[in-house]
Amino acid sequence: MTPWTEQATQRLLELESLKYSGTRIATLLAEEFGHPFTCNMVLGKLDRLAQPPGTSRNPDRRIRKLPRRKLKAVGPMTFNFSRTTSANRNKPENYRALPPPDRSACPYACDLVDLTSTSCRWPCGNPADSNFFFCGEPTADLLSNHPYCDAHHALAFTPVRRA
Ligand SMILES: [Zn+2]
Repeated sequence: MTPWTEQATQRLLELESLKYSGTRIATLLAEEFGHPFTCNMVLGKLDRLAQPPGTSRNPDRRIRKLPRRKLKAVGPMTFNFSRTTSANRNKPENYRALPPPDRSACPYACDLVDLTSTSCRWPCGNPADSNFFFCGEPTADLLSNHPYCDAHHALAFTPVRRA
């Protein structure tokens, strides 16, 4: 049975209007009504009384009431490696013809299955081509969030310029 009788609730509101602390109100209510009121009970009851009737404080219900966004259906993810940025996608003059990478010039060149946690993962060439390979230089450290050798790391990450 709830200790919050009509009299206890009225007394709670009186004491709260006198700016007593939750602990003090709990002590006074316990003395007057012979029930072990606690500070949390007092604060919880005051919180519930502050809510208009019929509203729920259950956060799950509030979340459920939010309108759902309609998700746009998309097809399977594909990546077009020949595409550049949207700004110059349709401008052939902006395509720079890179020479095909020379695997023999890279001493640590390796395939995907040969990569280790210390292999540089810089892709060389077009993955669709048979001569595609990874840099493979054993100075990377995947566990330290350093997936490339120093030279490729410098190419991959541009330092932030501060104004
Ligand atoms: Zn590298």
